[in-house]
Amino acid sequence: MPADPIPGIVDAHTHLASAGARTPEEVDAIVARAVAAGVEKLCTVGDGLAEAELALAAAQHNERVFAACAIHPTRARELDDAARARLTEMVADPRCVAVGETGLDTYWIRHEPERTAPLEVQEEALRWHIDLAVSSGKALMLHNREADEELMAVLADAPRPVETILHCFSSPLAVAEEALERGYVLSFAGNVTFKRNEELREVARITPRGQLLIETDAPYMTPEPFRGGRNEPAIIGHTALCVAEARGQDVADLALELSETFQRVYQRG
Ligand SMILES: [Zn+2]
Ligand SMILES: [Zn+2]
Repeated sequence: MPADPIPGIVDAHTHLASAGARTPEEVDAIVARAVAAGVEKLCTVGDGLAEAELALAAAQHNERVFAACAIHPTRARELDDAARARLTEMVADPRCVAVGETGLDTYWIRHEPERTAPLEVQEEALRWHIDLAVSSGKALMLHNREADEELMAVLADAPRPVETILHCFSSPLAVAEEALERGYVLSFAGNVTFKRNEELREVARITPRGQLLIETDAPYMTPEPFRGGRNEPAIIGHTALCVAEARGQDVADLALELSETFQRVYQRG
């Protein structure tokens, strides 16, 4: 069963289309279950052009939904001229609040290189998305899988967007300290609840107010006690409770803090 409703909670990064919401009715059904769990608003992410179109359509259809549009780093080869032109249009839409998810992912390069894009292709796509975030004044939402050093180096070298979010933050404490020092926002997903991830809970503990978000990354990253099962925004409460406990914070206060950060990060401009 889901946790008790936590009024005002947010989901900063989810994939409604991949979780099965591809029509307006399906979007409304998933959002209605989330609202019953207290979720006030959520950001849905497109990781390919078709998914970005669905994310934007969902955001235009349902007032609780905001969109992030980009081509995922593992799909960076899809970022052709037509995709660049269309993404530029989508990001200009007021319902699109972030350029994401972009970033770097070396995991698949090491394991199944034919399923992903080479690192230099990923980096070129990342730099293009960073420029788009800067020129549009929208937040930059980053994916990082086993690419701490490479990603932090590109970010240090590239122009600085108005907000930089490290989604599904899973890096070591030293990387977190550097990211926080630079003013980035860390968004924690269901893996913060996993027993072995002590260090990640320590990162959540030290993250200052205003630099913290939480997310489901649904349909992936299902939190305990549902690990291995289906994820959706309605079960964000388990991650919220875990993060609140790690921070020694009342969950209602955490919800308020997250709502303020969501508002600042995604709704300027
Ligand atoms: Zn990701
Ligand atoms: Zn994601």
